Amino acid sequence: MAARIIDGSAIAKELQQKIKADVAKLKEQNKTPGLAIVLVNSPVARTNIAELKKRMCDSVGIYCEVHTLNSLSGQANVMALVEKLNADPKITGINIHPMPNHIDYRAVVHAIDPLKDVEGIHPMNLGNFLIGDKQYIPFTPRGIMKLLESTGIELKGKRAVIVGRSQHVGLPVGFLLLEQHATVSFAHSRSWYLEQLTCQADVLIVATGHPEMITGSMVKPGAIVIDVGTNLVGGHLVGDVEHDSVNQVAGWITPVPGGVGPMTVAMLLNNLIGCCD
Ligand code: NDP
Repeated sequence: MAARIIDGSAIAKELQQKIKADVAKLKEQNKTPGLAIVLVNSPVARTNIAELKKRMCDSVGIYCEVHTLNSLSGQANVMALVEKLNADPKITGINIHPMPNHIDYRAVVHAIDPLKDVEGIHPMNLGNFLIGDKQYIPFTPRGIMKLLESTGIELKGKRAVIVGRSQHVGLPVGFLLLEQHATVSFAHSRSWYLEQLTCQADVLIVATGHPEMITGSMVKPGAIVIDVGTNLVGGHLVGDVEHDSVNQVAGWITPVPGGVGPMTVAMLLNNLIGCCD
């Protein structure tokens, strides 16, 4: 039997309605949430996602600026822009897109005003997150937890395996799952016997950036599979999970597109509301 689809688009749409109402309430108090998206033009910049975020902001009444620096921009240009946005009262949240290698991303993250850290990536906010303060939580993991919640399945005691340990996806989602009393393991590029690990997972989260690397034979029957990957292959968007084979084994699965992606954008806006409180 085919897996049940976890419909991220539908859940994100519901959340959007709530965000719209929250924005209207904030505007009554003369507060308008304002998002600045910063990207340096490059293959990793995800320009189309920036445009999608801008459209979503427009649809719920959030002010949004997209700052696209040209590919030759250096560290000083990015830092100067972040400083300018930190000081701009119209901007309540700053979202930095993946930077090309010649930019020191860590220095950029340190430069963000922690109160405008809509991504929850500033060391101060990450530290607070680890001791249980939930105001600034990375938005993709937050969206993933919402998708898991939508299945109605209790996570307590379940074996969760996360393939990928990045600071904005894999690691934080692991902490959120631990908080729900799941038993959590991380796999990464140096993990041996990946299949043995993934086959034990009641909840399998995959965020590696390798198209369709998880196949049906690597999944426990009935598992919940969350595919975070977004890879352009031959002009089509595919996940890190081979949907057709995994769909035959898993109990639940997120589609790509229409799973984690829309939730990520909705949770970004949700975090932005939090930055205004
Ligand atoms: P990163 O490149 O930052 O991290 C990738 C992780 O995967 C690393 O921990 C790496 O291990 C691990 N990895 C790489 N190859 C393997 C392998 N063969 N076996 C096991 N683990 C492996 O990626 P991100 O976390 O930023 O993103 C991952 C994917 O999710 C990408 O496709 C990205 O586009 C997508 N994404 C989608 C979002 C959405 O909203 N849908 C949001 C954010 C990301 P190591 O640490 O050892 O290098």
